Amino acid sequence: MKTITRMPQTALDLLNSLYGYDSFRGHQAEIIDQLTAGHDALVLMPTGGGKSLCYQIPSLLRDGVGMIISPLIALMQDQVDAMQQLGVKAAFLNSTLAINEQNFIEQQLLAGELDLLYIAPERLVQERTLELLQRCQLALFAIDEAHCVSQWGHDFRADYLSLSLLHERFPNIPRIALTATADVRTRQEIIERLALTDAKSYISGFDRPNIRYGIANKTSPRKQLMAFLQQRKQEAGIVYCLSRKKVEDTAAWLTQQGFTALPYHAGLSPQLRETHQSRFLREDGVIIVATIAFGMGIDKPDVRFVAHLDLPKSIEAYYQETGRAGRDGLPAEAWMVYGLQDVVRLQQMQQQSNGSEQFKRAERHKLDAMLGLCEVTSCRRQVLLNYFADKAPDHCGNCDNCQIPPETWDASEAAQKLLSCVYRTGQRFGVVHVLDVLLGKETDKVLQHGHQQLSTFGIGSDIHEAQWRSVVRQLVVRGLLRVDLEGYSALQLTDICRPVLKGEQSLHLRKEDFKAPSAKKAGKK
Ligand code: ADP
Ligand code: ZN
Repeated sequence: MKTITRMPQTALDLLNSLYGYDSFRGHQAEIIDQLTAGHDALVLMPTGGGKSLCYQIPSLLRDGVGMIISPLIALMQDQVDAMQQLGVKAAFLNSTLAINEQNFIEQQLLAGELDLLYIAPERLVQERTLELLQRCQLALFAIDEAHCVSQWGHDFRADYLSLSLLHERFPNIPRIALTATADVRTRQEIIERLALTDAKSYISGFDRPNIRYGIANKTSPRKQLMAFLQQRKQEAGIVYCLSRKKVEDTAAWLTQQGFTALPYHAGLSPQLRETHQSRFLREDGVIIVATIAFGMGIDKPDVRFVAHLDLPKSIEAYYQETGRAGRDGLPAEAWMVYGLQDVVRLQQMQQQSNGSEQFKRAERHKLDAMLGLCEVTSCRRQVLLNYFADKAPDHCGNCDNCQIPPETWDASEAAQKLLSCVYRTGQRFGVVHVLDVLLGKETDKVLQHGHQQLSTFGIGSDIHEAQWRSVVRQLVVRGLLRVDLEGYSALQLTDICRPVLKGEQSLHLRKEDFKAPSAKKAGKK
């Protein structure tokens, strides 16, 4: 513990006597110190990291009431109950209260009888509330779930934008903004929109060292999943799929294979969802197969694995979903397979969404970062933690890339062949046809278009088809090829592919393990 002023002593006393904990975690002590001294802070900590103490303790150490702004009305009651049990005078103000209850709390507030007041943002920004607060002694403002201020994020709340007025109306009251999900960009937005330029940032604890990360090329997903699950009999886990139908099919199939697998998605009746969720929580060895509808507020410490059969659309989503594994600190696994189809589907969904251009661009960046995590040949944990700007080791030793460093191969010539085949066929055909031409297959479609006469016909027969698919995927991910999302998913060249196409730039790609024997000796030049 550094920067000792008069405060940490008392903060630590409170931690010991009130909460019953021995010591602060991570940056907690510094944050509390910063706030108690009247300064602003921006805190990024994953769920379960211990954010609440960071504003609760300074609220108690400073004179006046700590105002906690949270959009999660449903959770306020729990938080208030928990604080009251510790003997703290806590209350909440939101639309679920009756008028007389609201009046009562306002009186307590004015009389200085509260330590903590949880309040919904829409309530806080009402002029009436603001005037009320101006007549009270305030310890601090805590803005929880601060990423809600980001217009490009998924939890955007218009009321959060108005929170910049706190700085204008209460310039001397310290503010702390907290969130579990914010990439560098969102963080910048929080700082700007909440006028937190003088706030010190505390980023910490994103690492989940007991989770092993592994991402593989999708070849036959069910077989791959089965191979993974074979070593995990009787363990609880979550299998995420993108669509409801795939959830149903996968759960049924796993059941046939002798697993206890239950589906969960928003299309099931509330009773069924409730039953499946509680069986997952209570019984041993249950696998829940779910869309992303599952997981919010699920607190099961011994989830041993999280498997993704489809690609999440951002690193935040991936981190949040995989973060449900191994909360007990014991070894757990984050497993995923992904392929070109996933990339195309997500790009398509983004394009069809009716968000603004700027929103779409932000979404694209997020997907690109996710794809970067998939394709990286160095430590995955490093990429993951760097994304949240958290400190990262060069080599974590607990991800697939660290444990079995992927080989790369000089794919310059292969890429040249593929790109020219796309060009020769007129950039009008999808992967299947382009590969048929490359591999020299005389299909009806090839003959119909006379593509057996092209100079690129059959020039790729030295490489196995599965490996070609991997080349296509990696070129798409790197932006050297594009899939036309509007028409028939035709492969098209991009501007940046030219140096590779012309042989002016070499290209090294990830070598993937295709069980096919021919893949091994592919680089036989
Ligand atoms: P977050 O809001 O970041 O999701 P919480 O504030 O709810 O996390 O804290 C998660 C859990 O960790 C709570 O049970 C909390 O009491 C506990 N906790 C927080 N700080 C400490 C600490 N310094 N020592 C031990 N337990 C702590
Ligand atoms: Zn690693």
